[in-house]
Amino acid sequence: MSVTLGGNIFVTGSNRGIGLELVKHLAQKTPADARIYAGCREPDGANAQALRDLTTKHAGKICILKLEMSDEESIASAVRTLSEKVGAGGLNLLINNAAIAKPPLPGPLKDTSRRDMMDVYETNVAGPFQLTKMLIPLLQKAAASSDQGEEMSCRRSAVVNVSTLGASIQRLPESYHLAQLYPYRSSKAALNMLSSCLALELKGQKTLVVALHPGWVQTDMGGDMAPLSTHDSVQGMIKVMSSLGSKDTGAFLGWNGEVLPW
Ligand code: NDP
Repeated sequence: MSVTLGGNIFVTGSNRGIGLELVKHLAQKTPADARIYAGCREPDGANAQALRDLTTKHAGKICILKLEMSDEESIASAVRTLSEKVGAGGLNLLINNAAIAKPPLPGPLKDTSRRDMMDVYETNVAGPFQLTKMLIPLLQKAAASSDQGEEMSCRRSAVVNVSTLGASIQRLPESYHLAQLYPYRSSKAALNMLSSCLALELKGQKTLVVALHPGWVQTDMGGDMAPLSTHDSVQGMIKVMSSLGSKDTGAFLGWNGEVLPW
């Protein structure tokens, strides 16, 4: 697989699951001068041991940034730190991966509260919205310093919003009976709209934006029944990200490159 990613890359929710695997693959597969910034709520907590081990293994290449996506000040603070660290190079790739699903599966309507809706929306939509908005100047810096002319790419300047096929209104009848997940599905549908809006907003500055479904993956969120390992999902996601160009901005894609229905 040819990996074209590099420069400064920021992954949110990176201490476990798909985020941790993304950091692992990116640290292995990007050039030596690439820097992977790993967003994590509790960098010193027990839940971040695997990420700390990875950071030690790839000394100097991975940098952990404290980041709580539901907290406005935490996002602002992470952006300030990132800005100092990347300097003139700016940010090449933001992967909005952190998310929650409440109430637990299958999440029927009767078990779902207004509070669940607000909590999920805060982390899955308002967080990525604020973080991306605050990072636009850094993404613009990276885009402007590229020698790629008019062409967009994830190496140049891009935002990848980790979405889900569960947000597809067209495909809802296939999975609704298995999991209702009102807050989660609604939040990811909103994230898809956010991706579409940002794709139009940032086209002029040559920052590419996509919504990317990682597949059904064996993680705390995906559960044991999921058919895909984090390894295979992330390998597919990185292959897709490496192949994206101007024609793809605004798309909703699967981990295997399939174009998904909204
Ligand atoms: P996990 O539940 O395994 O991991 C979620 C990650 O997000 C953790 O690192 C968690 O940190 C972090 N996180 C949660 N809330 C916050 C917050 N408020 N602030 C900062 N970080 C937070 O999920 P997955 O790895 O399975 O999912 C990753 C992405 O893939 C998500 O966007 C999810 O919606 C999407 N996805 C997953 C699928 C699957 O089958 N697994 C299917 C489709 C989409 P902490 O340890 O601190 O809680």
